[in-house]
Amino acid sequence: SVKAPEPAEFKQQPSEERPKEPAKNRVKAALVSLVRNTDLHGMRQTIREIEDRFNRVYKYPYIFLNDVPFTDEFKKGVKDLTDSEVSFGILDDESWGTPDWIDEKKLQHVLDTADYINGRSRSYKYMCRFQSGYIYKHPLLKDLEFYWRIEPDVKYYCQLDYDPFVYMKENNKMYGFNMAPNEYMVTIPTLWNTTKAFMKEYPQHVAKNNLLEFAVENGDYNGCHFWTNFEIVNLSFYRSKQYEDYFKFLDRAGGFFYERWGDAPVHTLAVTMFLRKDQVHYFGDIGYYHPAMGFCPKNSKSSGKCVCDPDKENEFNYGCRRRWDIV
Ligand code: GDP
Ligand code: MN
Repeated sequence: SVKAPEPAEFKQQPSEERPKEPAKNRVKAALVSLVRNTDLHGMRQTIREIEDRFNRVYKYPYIFLNDVPFTDEFKKGVKDLTDSEVSFGILDDESWGTPDWIDEKKLQHVLDTADYINGRSRSYKYMCRFQSGYIYKHPLLKDLEFYWRIEPDVKYYCQLDYDPFVYMKENNKMYGFNMAPNEYMVTIPTLWNTTKAFMKEYPQHVAKNNLLEFAVENGDYNGCHFWTNFEIVNLSFYRSKQYEDYFKFLDRAGGFFYERWGDAPVHTLAVTMFLRKDQVHYFGDIGYYHPAMGFCPKNSKSSGKCVCDPDKENEFNYGCRRRWDIV
């Protein structure tokens, strides 16, 4: 007869299903997240899904970054869910805060008056700036060739039977996304003008067969952006001269503070300026939910290895997803 294990002995997964060794031919890659101690529960939810759908076989390491030290509770809470290597890092002053050319008074006025979501949060601005220009420079990511960004409270709907990092590497993909919604334009009133000024100053940085058509309609930014809470990226893209010059240009302009420039439109505009479409991959098979919205790959209602309903969360609900197919 089989005896139920005592709670203390209970392992999240039957141990015989977990390969002892990491998969062969892995790339230098990791699952990376900037995260707060207070997001422990949400991050555990995410890790549980990532492990079940993918990483219990591939065993890619996790890297967690924070502006304050991680608590022992956080460290234990995330480590308990994976056999992978887990590292914890802290941010330096340059990457988290206001640069000295930012006018504190002007910023304070914005923090007192902005009337859109997270507009009055100083830390949200720091977060967006960090994800735009610093995350890939963190010493813990130094040896990584690729990262897969993860966030708390997300769901991965589908079993993943291949390694997306290897896929990207073998197919020369620089940037991978799954969802592409529209931006709230009130958060980025001058981002497009600043980007145009950048292109004027650095015309040599703009790729020949670029993807600007995805983001630009009638000469204006249409708000289409890759939803960066999920992204799989060849980090040489962010480490390139083009990207660094673009980030510096934006940072000088101050819109991370005086407006609420998000890392999603920033990454997206960079992708569309510096890459060709064939260097960007749509992971239409990685069904996904992040609070507010998700998508379910077509045909996954009755077959395949997804647990979601494509009639409810149709990928073509999003205008920018449709645009992807026609540019
Ligand atoms: P949203 O997805 O735009 O709603 O923003 P989130 O609140 O999910 O933040 C994005 C990511 O940055 C999440 O992983 C958060 O845990 C993390 N984050 C946001 N603000 C802070 C912060 O002040 N400190 C740290 N360490 N992480 C943060
Ligand atoms: Mn989030």
